[in-house]
Amino acid sequence: METKYINIDKDIDIEKIKEASEYIKQGKLVVFPTETVYGIGADATNEYAVKRIFEAKGRKSDNPLIVHISNIDMLRTIVSDIGKVEQNLIEKFWPGPLTIIFNRKDEKIISNIVTGGLDTVGVRMPNNIIALNLIKESNKPIAAPSANISGRPSGTIISDIKNELDGKVECIIDSGATEVGVESTVVRVINGIVNILRPGKITKEDIESLGLEVQFDKHIFEKVSEEKVMSPGMKYRHYAPNKRCIMIYSEDDNKMIEKINEMCMEYKNVIVLCNSKNKEKYLCNTIELGYTLDEIAQNIFRVLRQVDRMNGDIVLIEGVKKAGIGVAIFNRLIRACEYNYIEI
Ligand code: AMP
Ligand code: MG
Repeated sequence: METKYINIDKDIDIEKIKEASEYIKQGKLVVFPTETVYGIGADATNEYAVKRIFEAKGRKSDNPLIVHISNIDMLRTIVSDIGKVEQNLIEKFWPGPLTIIFNRKDEKIISNIVTGGLDTVGVRMPNNIIALNLIKESNKPIAAPSANISGRPSGTIISDIKNELDGKVECIIDSGATEVGVESTVVRVINGIVNILRPGKITKEDIESLGLEVQFDKHIFEKVSEEKVMSPGMKYRHYAPNKRCIMIYSEDDNKMIEKINEMCMEYKNVIVLCNSKNKEKYLCNTIELGYTLDEIAQNIFRVLRQVDRMNGDIVLIEGVKKAGIGVAIFNRLIRACEYNYIEI
């Protein structure tokens, strides 16, 4: 299959978006930007189209997709009820990087394939003008997982996505690097408490600022072994480069650097992923992740792919403090490292 590439820069071109929406309407696959990462989109009400997303990614069928909407009327066609807490979250954070899990409406317009057979559905309204207009022009909710082969780092720039998805999707919209860089925060409200199933740009602190009680699902920091988890995606290998990765962290930067340098000597042929402020302090090759946590979030997946193209046997990654968006970065990194983590 030939993939059609459409470039749209910051000034949105509605004709180009209409062209892409024709693919969605015909049950085809379109890679499109959101503010978090790129998604592989299909009409969420078209079973055949949605099945093809799973095929293109090699994604397990029990790992549900997030449904993307452009207005609240669309939400009402999908979910059975919108609780008070959920209403509160919508008002504060939509459009934005927050996915909310709802009970599905009895009359199911969203394909069962999208929800992996669950009675619930994850929905979000992305804060990206191309994504919102694509949904609007298609006049359908769009199911979309991250644009990458399952298990690999999520796609945040088209050159990375092209390597994996060219020829597997009908259309790719290129609008440059995505802003946030890590996927949306996924929450489910149970008995009035907001459970964070996957950490992201919207932080625990952000949600608490609404006066709500918030807790992290324990699987965010620990390896998931049992079958029954609230967010099925958490149990699969994800974000991993093809090289062995180890994350090292200490609250004391000097101790962390000392430990990583010790390991550089021990392992030889090492690549260190580090905060830009530390790049001169290492005895081996480094790749800068950025200075602030927001910059690190934006760069993380691109850099995890970059290491695959470099010489080196082992990747040592500076950990980050588990606060704010640092929780999301930590969660992605510990999974990229397949839980090889040293804290000093
Ligand atoms: P991705 O599409 O790769 O960004 O992954 C979507 C994430 O949302 C996965 O971790 C899923 O487990 C989670 N998710 C989507 N729908 C649901 C749902 N109905 N219940 C729980 N988690 C969900
Ligand atoms: Mg993904």
